[in-house]
Amino acid sequence: MGSENKLLKIYNGQAVTPSGIVKNATVIVRSGVIEKVAEGNLDVPGAIELDAKGYYIAPGLIDIQVNGYNSVSFCLEGAGDTPASNGGLTVSDVKKVTEGLWKEGVTTYFPTLTTNSQDLLLKNFGILAKAMNDPFLLGSIPGFHLEGPYISAVDGYRGAHPLEHVRKPVWNEFLELYKASGEKILLITVAPEVEGAYEFIRKCRELGIVVSLGHHNGTAGQIKQAIDNGAGLATHLGNGCANTVNRHLNPIWPQLADDRLKISFIADGFHLPPEMLQVFYKTKGAENIIITSDITSYAGLPAGIYKIKHGKTIEKTVDGNLRFSEGGLYGSASPLRNGVAHIMKVSGCGLINAIQMTTLNPAYVHNLNDRGVLEQGKRADLILFTMDNERMFIQKTFVAGKEVYSKN
Ligand SMILES: [Zn+2]
Repeated sequence: MGSENKLLKIYNGQAVTPSGIVKNATVIVRSGVIEKVAEGNLDVPGAIELDAKGYYIAPGLIDIQVNGYNSVSFCLEGAGDTPASNGGLTVSDVKKVTEGLWKEGVTTYFPTLTTNSQDLLLKNFGILAKAMNDPFLLGSIPGFHLEGPYISAVDGYRGAHPLEHVRKPVWNEFLELYKASGEKILLITVAPEVEGAYEFIRKCRELGIVVSLGHHNGTAGQIKQAIDNGAGLATHLGNGCANTVNRHLNPIWPQLADDRLKISFIADGFHLPPEMLQVFYKTKGAENIIITSDITSYAGLPAGIYKIKHGKTIEKTVDGNLRFSEGGLYGSASPLRNGVAHIMKVSGCGLINAIQMTTLNPAYVHNLNDRGVLEQGKRADLILFTMDNERMFIQKTFVAGKEVYSKN
C-alpha cells in the first residue's frame, strides 16, 4: 500500500481556502482525497500526523502554460531550445519535468506545444499522450495546450514562433493533432484575424476545447466575433504583442473591455511592468484571471550564461530573468510560485486571491472539477509553503495524497 492510500492528518498550519485563511487548521486526507478542512487540532485516530507549524497549506498550483523545464523542451525545435536538447522528447523527459515542477509547488500542468511543423507536433503529442497516463505522474497532466500554429504571421505579434510554421487553421489538420494527443488538447491559442478563425473556434468549442486569443493583432470587431463564437480566454495578455501599437486601436483594449473574456498573464516581474498588471487586475478582477508561467527549458537551471543558436548567448539572472546578453527578454524561466508572490506585491491582492488565480481559476475554466481548491472531496494536491520577503517558498508537495517533494 502506498502512502497515498493511508490516512494523513496535516495540522497546525494556515489553510488557504476561497472563503478565508483558516488558522490552526487540520487537513485530513484519506486515500488521496481531502476528507476535511477544519479549524483546530482534530483527533484523527490511526492517521499519520504532519505538523505544519509556520506553513500555509494550499491546493497545488496549476500551470496551463509550460513549454519545458530543467533542459527539457516539449517542442524541441521551437522557442526555448536548449543546448541539452539533443534528440527528441521522451517519456522520461516528461517525468523529469513533472518532478521538477512538484518541487516548485505545481501539481497540475499543461505541457504546451508551440508553432511547429505538423510532423513534430504529431510526434510530440504522441509522446505526451503516452506519458500523461504513466502512473508515476499521478495524474499531474490532465491535458495539453497548443499555442499556435494558427496565429499572426506578423513580427512582434508572432513572438518567437517560427514564421515558416505559422499557418491558417485547417480543421482536418487540427483533428490529426487532437487524435495524436489522445483527444487531450484542452486549450488552444489562436489569432482571431486569421482566415477561418471563427468557424475553427466554434468547432473547437464543440469538442469542449477552451479557445484562447493570443499572438494576434485582431481588431475590436474581430475580437468580438471570436468571443461571440466561443473564445473565452486571452493568452499572456500584454505579451505576444508588437512593441509599438496604435494607442487607440490595438488588441489589448478590446480584450480588457469585454467582460466575457477571461485573461491569462505572466506575472514573473519581467514580462509586464507593474502598472500593466495593476490595470489588468483592477479591470478583470481575481475571478477572471489565470496566472501562467510560460516557462521554458531554462527554468530549473542555475543562473548563468547559456549559448543559443546563431552564436548568441542568453543570461539567466539569480532572480529568474531570462534575457539576451545584448539586452531584451528571451523567455520565461520563473516558476508559477513567483507569479503568486509578484501579483501580491504589485496588485496588493491577498494570498487568497493570488492562490485562486493559480489554482481554482485554471481548474474551473478547464472543468478540472476534481482539484484546485482545499475542499472536501477534492484530490489531495497540496502544498505547504512560507511567504518570506515577498517570495513563496515550497516546503512540501503532495499529489493525490502522496508526498512527492519535501525540502528537508
Ligand atoms: Zn506565447
